[in-house]
Amino acid sequence: MIEVVRIPVLSDNYVWLVHEPDSGETTVIDPAVADPVLAEVVKHGWQITQIWNTHWHPDHTGGNAAIKAATGCTVTAPAAEAGRIPTLDRAVGEGDIVCLGEIEAEVIEVPAHTAGHIAYLLPSECAAFVGDTLFAMGCGRLFEGTPAQMHANMQRLAALPPDTLVYCAHEYTLANGRFALTVEPDNRALVERMAEVEALRARGEATVPTTIALERATNPFMRAGSVEELAKRRAAKDAF
Ligand code: ZN
Ligand code: FE
Repeated sequence: MIEVVRIPVLSDNYVWLVHEPDSGETTVIDPAVADPVLAEVVKHGWQITQIWNTHWHPDHTGGNAAIKAATGCTVTAPAAEAGRIPTLDRAVGEGDIVCLGEIEAEVIEVPAHTAGHIAYLLPSECAAFVGDTLFAMGCGRLFEGTPAQMHANMQRLAALPPDTLVYCAHEYTLANGRFALTVEPDNRALVERMAEVEALRARGEATVPTTIALERATNPFMRAGSVEELAKRRAAKDAF
């Protein structure tokens, strides 16, 4: 069993620390910055052995160099973005397996937010680290890809086991939910979820991880019935 720790950094990023006790390995997923991550591992008495990046954006890789220098860890990142992640040791793509001790993470390619964006699926842990592809009630902006690609990503993630814990890289839930309500004002699951989210945020609490089941019930991008519908919703959200 892995232990997962959420580290809130910058304005709304979540860096995820994943510890595997049998091997003692710890990986950092998408370290935007180094210092808060290094401070957090000390608190737990862990040592960082790996970094896993989902895409090249600086708010996901900005801590790579300093963490690598401090710990000697190895950096795994998307092969398609290797040129933009100079700290990379291992370039991975669709179907590759990355190990944390005996725990296997399967790499899937989910391009659209960036051209080489990947996600790490840990089937034995019922966990998925999805970077900026899937958010609670939202999806990433289409900076380097198409609505068709994001639609395919949403359908693929929707097919994961419903109880899969989805670890996204930002706390965007409240704004996403407000937009989602404009799309499906009568969706009861969505209305109920927003009441919970508003209460959590009012107390300063995190709303992530989410689950595939919750997203299937409330996420307007995962629920888009066609590429065209997703494209329309994404454009409306960009202007929301
Ligand atoms: Zn990003
Ligand atoms: Fe980001």
